[in-house]
Amino acid sequence: MLKQPDWKLIRIPFLEMDLAHACDLKCRGCTHYSNYGLKGSVPFQEGEVWLRAWATRLMPGTFSFLGGEPLLNSDLLAYLRLAHILWPDSKRILITNGLNCHLRPGLFETLAETGTRLDISVHSHKDQAYLDRFNQALVEIETARLHSSFEVMLRTQEFRFYRTYRGEGPDMRPFEDKNPEASWQACQNSSCCTIHQGALWKCPPLAYLGLAAKKFDLDRQAAWRPYLAYRPVPVTASEDELVNFFMTAAEPACAMCPAKLDYFEQGRITKEEQPALAGV
Ligand code: SF4
Ligand code: SF4
Repeated sequence: MLKQPDWKLIRIPFLEMDLAHACDLKCRGCTHYSNYGLKGSVPFQEGEVWLRAWATRLMPGTFSFLGGEPLLNSDLLAYLRLAHILWPDSKRILITNGLNCHLRPGLFETLAETGTRLDISVHSHKDQAYLDRFNQALVEIETARLHSSFEVMLRTQEFRFYRTYRGEGPDMRPFEDKNPEASWQACQNSSCCTIHQGALWKCPPLAYLGLAAKKFDLDRQAAWRPYLAYRPVPVTASEDELVNFFMTAAEPACAMCPAKLDYFEQGRITKEEQPALAGV
């Protein structure tokens, strides 16, 4: 086992993990780059090892599963049960776009049994195809909630996407405003440390940059190389290294993000800009 007798559990406010990189929406500005048609989920066999190991080191106040779209992971229910066992006293949340609950029979009962809150992100107030599907899904979730009594929260501000890089797709480039401290101060992901590939990453834009880079050959761009070289913290890190990770605010890598936030217009997942619903 990884646990060493002298390792103390470190209490942290937030911890999260993406269960799927794929998503059926394509929200421009997604900080997990899932709008670019990333593929794949984290199999339970793999993710379980990561979570059990990190549970010997960290005690999060709030632990969230998200993605991508976590409901696209066929092992989702096993993950919900595992998080309940590992962190029974933490607030546990499943963050989803809410459109795919029908894919996971037993989801609502498992949310109730494990005391996991279901957070549903609202990603557009304008895209009618999305809203039709979303409203239908909400009715189904509310009907299930009345029956199974699990907690639900609507995240109504999550259509406010901002640019975390310049350009799009193969032309995306880091901001490099030459002020990582200001970028970190402006950042809305600074408390979202995340488990990816078994290690602990500062934030989703750094954790999943490698997936976007693979898709668009970004490693050929010199501008991205310093950020692709970011090294996350392994679960075998010493206590000092781990404390240092959590105590560090701005890092040189924060230079990839904007020093001043530039929001996309409200509801910018319109079909004209970029198809919002891949499957519709
Ligand atoms: S719903 Fe939108 S913001 Fe959320 S993971 Fe999918 S593309 Fe990203
Ligand atoms: S690299 Fe720094 S500024 Fe950018 S999202 Fe991560 S924590 Fe925020």
